[in-house]
Amino acid sequence: LWYSENLLTPENKMKYIDSHAHLSQGDYALDLDETINKAVRNDVIHIIDNADSLDSFENVLNTKKAYPNIIKAAIGIHPEFSGKGEDYLNTAIDFITSHIDQIDAIGECGLDYHYLSGTSKEDELNTFRVMASIAKQYNKPLVVHSREAFDDTYSILKGIRPDKIQLHCFCYSKEEAKQLIDLGLNIKFSFGGVLTFKNSLWKITFLLVKVIGFKFIREFL
Ligand SMILES: [Zn+2]
Repeated sequence: LWYSENLLTPENKMKYIDSHAHLSQGDYALDLDETINKAVRNDVIHIIDNADSLDSFENVLNTKKAYPNIIKAAIGIHPEFSGKGEDYLNTAIDFITSHIDQIDAIGECGLDYHYLSGTSKEDELNTFRVMASIAKQYNKPLVVHSREAFDDTYSILKGIRPDKIQLHCFCYSKEEAKQLIDLGLNIKFSFGGVLTFKNSLWKITFLLVKVIGFKFIREFL
């Protein structure tokens, strides 16, 4: 969840943005309406719904159409689906560019060298470069998934310089966070489930408060 002082109401009540969800990939087929309404009742004002593959592109846009005030649509190819070949990637590019007015962010996309099943580093690098370039070209935020791939993630962001970047589920060190901050780009760090891993808890909490500071955790879209 994304917290920001800008999200406080005049009564000092906190509002939230769910910065990374996958509502449109089937798991919520039976209770999507209930899930979204429950979030809204609990002061969530936006949910960024992420596609991960061609199969979920239309679904995310349909969810946004059904809940236009709540849902923001992030459309992209996750590294897991980057090994599907040239036609697949070209179809994704065509879809994204022809629906760009309905799309709020490009993603989720990125590099994951931990799980290389059905993909290669080259496939992942190629797909991520394409996604980052589209984000840059259309001035859209880029939602980045990066795991065990800091150097390549860093060099692609440094080379393409998308205008806004969300490093979803940040899992690198504070030195690496500092390197990214020093690029001078508009980068937001988000901390996901890794916060619950036994050895990561104090390390990441320290990083969050001491290095990045709460000023970086603010409204993104
Ligand atoms: Zn995700």
